[in-house]
Amino acid sequence: MKKQRQGIKRHLLLMVTLPTVILSIFILVFGAFLFYHFYCDSIRDELVSTTNMMVDCLDMTVRGDYQYQDGMLFKGDMNVTDSTMLYRVKEKSNIDTSIFWNNIRVITTVEDKDGVSAAGTTAEKSVTDVVLGGGQDYFCDHVRVNDTEYIGYYKALKNDDGSVVGMVFAGKKRSIVYYKILRILAWFLGFSVVAVMVAVFCTKRYSAGVITDINTINHFLQTIADGTLGETLDERIRQRRDELGDIGIYADKMRSNLQKLVEMDALTSLYNRRSGNRMMGVLVEQKAVYTAVMCDIDFFKRVNDTYGHAAGDQVLIEVSAAIRDSVGEEGFASRWGGEEFLAIYCMEMPEAKEHVEALQEKIRELVIRYGESEIQVTMTFGIAESEPAESYEKVVKRADEKLYIGKNGGRDQIVT
Ligand code: GH3
Ligand code: MG
Ligand code: MG
Repeated sequence: MKKQRQGIKRHLLLMVTLPTVILSIFILVFGAFLFYHFYCDSIRDELVSTTNMMVDCLDMTVRGDYQYQDGMLFKGDMNVTDSTMLYRVKEKSNIDTSIFWNNIRVITTVEDKDGVSAAGTTAEKSVTDVVLGGGQDYFCDHVRVNDTEYIGYYKALKNDDGSVVGMVFAGKKRSIVYYKILRILAWFLGFSVVAVMVAVFCTKRYSAGVITDINTINHFLQTIADGTLGETLDERIRQRRDELGDIGIYADKMRSNLQKLVEMDALTSLYNRRSGNRMMGVLVEQKAVYTAVMCDIDFFKRVNDTYGHAAGDQVLIEVSAAIRDSVGEEGFASRWGGEEFLAIYCMEMPEAKEHVEALQEKIRELVIRYGESEIQVTMTFGIAESEPAESYEKVVKRADEKLYIGKNGGRDQIVT
């Protein structure tokens, strides 16, 4: 089955945005939970102080026990069925309050959605059991008052002798709390979206440059894989001071080493026969005038037989160096096979012949030292100048024929 190709850019984007999104959701949920609890705690403190303030206010205004007559609440002789203070609290802090006689709301700011007062209604049983039954305070973040959800606090209303006669209630509508939390969450959501967008933008920007260069290196490696070893590495990649720059430089080294392996002869460092052919092909394409010199070491077999194969190799190395020097920048030399070389001089025959004569002399005088041995060799040369529109194979053939004549004519000579 063919694997689907997936780009680095897609992966990179996913790796950056996914954690950001997950983190944002986690913070959103956990933050909402934490905020609700902190907010509930602070509301509880607010409600406690409100109920305390109401009870203290009633206690300080007038002394005496509470009584309930004809729907009115008295403290001592004073009628305290006045909701002015309660509405002031609501106005200032959005807190609904009630005063109960036993479990009946006598005074209250709680109203239903049609604006009808909840006065006369009763408190839930779970509340009255704790406050009226046990004389203790009661807090719950989920109490229903007149069909509305409240975070509520109830405090027992006591006479001077400690007997519980009623309750004081302070509560904040849960809808207000939800609204506040939602507002904060909306802000956070906005920040999260911006954070994800910034992450995506930065990743895209960074990855665009990296991916362009990866593709350039990719293309460069592909050309090497296809056997084209003459391409040069983009200078921008070479200038990169990171891993991509390293990959590019190593790829280029690989290319040039491969090129050497493919084009050069390992022993003599001259071009091999294949490269020699290719380069002559270029000369023909350019319609250049050149002189081909086919040369061969005389009696080389004897060198091997007398001094050994390793010594013969050393002779090949030094003779090759002499041929390369002779050709210099004005041509090229290749190892045609064994101890036979093809030197190409990009010039006409008479001039080339002068170079070859100098080379012949140099090789005659060359003393190759191998261990204790001192070896001297001579060479025979066959020279042919290119003719217009002639194939290089023909030129080489003519040079080869001249070499053959030289060998048969006694060796150590130049045949033109
Ligand atoms: P001629 O003057 O007719 O060219 O005689 P020759 O002995 O040079 O020619 P021949 O073709 O008889 O021998 C060539 C020898 O070159 C045989 C072969 O073992 C040797 N030779 C070929 N390649 C290498 C090489 O890479 N290293 C060494 N040491 N010898 C090689
Ligand atoms: Mg030979
Ligand atoms: Mg030979």
